[in-house]
Amino acid sequence: MKTLRWGLVGASDVAATRVIPAMRRLGHEIVAVSSATAAYAAEYARRQQIPFATSEIDALVSRDDIDAIYISTFNRLHHPHTLSAAAAGKHVLCEKPVALNLADAWSMVRACETAGVVFGVNHHLPCAATHREISWLVAAGAVGQPLGVRVFHAVRLPDRLATWRLKDLAAGAGVPLDITVHDAAVVNRLLGRPMDAVALGVRQGPWKAALDDAVMSVLRYEGDVVVQTHDAFTVGHAGTGLEVHGSEGSIIATDVMTQEPIGRVLLRDASGERELDIPDRRDMYEVSLEAFSRAVQEKIAPAVTGVDGVRALAVALAVQEAASSGRRVPIVTEPVAED
Ligand code: NDP
Repeated sequence: MKTLRWGLVGASDVAATRVIPAMRRLGHEIVAVSSATAAYAAEYARRQQIPFATSEIDALVSRDDIDAIYISTFNRLHHPHTLSAAAAGKHVLCEKPVALNLADAWSMVRACETAGVVFGVNHHLPCAATHREISWLVAAGAVGQPLGVRVFHAVRLPDRLATWRLKDLAAGAGVPLDITVHDAAVVNRLLGRPMDAVALGVRQGPWKAALDDAVMSVLRYEGDVVVQTHDAFTVGHAGTGLEVHGSEGSIIATDVMTQEPIGRVLLRDASGERELDIPDRRDMYEVSLEAFSRAVQEKIAPAVTGVDGVRALAVALAVQEAASSGRRVPIVTEPVAED
């Protein structure tokens, strides 16, 4: 497999803890990092042993020795940073949520199409072997007609991340954009088109959050399939899970809504209950990067395309609006024009 030469836009925690190690395990080269703060960029580059640091994104995206840009800045900045990378002719792997609104998100898809570059979104969960197996089972009819999905994704936000996510709405904070968007990346793949959402959010954590830190939602997908999500920053010991209940059987997956390649998948139907053998426990970020680099090389789709990312965002935005308005909100998955 061809390895890529990367520029990192955003000196983030997820890059340091997940993506840089995965890039290095795959033999990719990390050429440069940019951060809004020059001193922080330099310190981060030293810590991560990245040769070049800058606070000027143009100085990074214009380099000839970079093939692709990984964007992990604040959510608000994914849009302008993707446009800059695409304009410089660089392939883009962007963190989720892809943007803060659908017009920006679709404009990112269009900009990458126009520039002829690959646009991937780093939703790790669809890269997990557990989720790939669940998708395959559902598509193969193992549960019959899907009727309902339950997503258990209430976790405790680590103290080191209890910063902008809890208070900075302008940066793109909040549970729907942070966690529900991950649920949507998984469930959209299982069920197809999301139709509408209702939701309720609360502030229940110890940190005086400026916005909801726990949200439950109910979504309706095409064909009147109902989906329930529990997403939170406040719950430390629930474990995570995904259940798909259909006319002929149920899939019960535990510990699968996480960053680790763990979890069990059970299939229960009229013949009894069995656990599926899932030998592939590869790191999901490696799978995402490997698929992205194959997309660049072979001109095929990455693991999660820009359009997949936009449609996951559409669900998260509808949940956010439903929670704040108390109303049932339609989920808009078709392209929208720029404002
Ligand atoms: P961080 O809080 O670690 O970083 C966000 C930004 O904060 C950085 O990009 C950096 O700005 C700035 N920053 C952080 N520390 C400092 C500092 N000491 N001094 C100056 N600036 C600082 O964010 P996360 O890593 O948690 O999230 C980044 C993105 O990744 C988000 O979009 C998030 O949704 C996504 N994410 C995805 C995950 C996944 O599994 N796919 C998991 C976790 C996060 P600058 O950009 O200017 O460098």
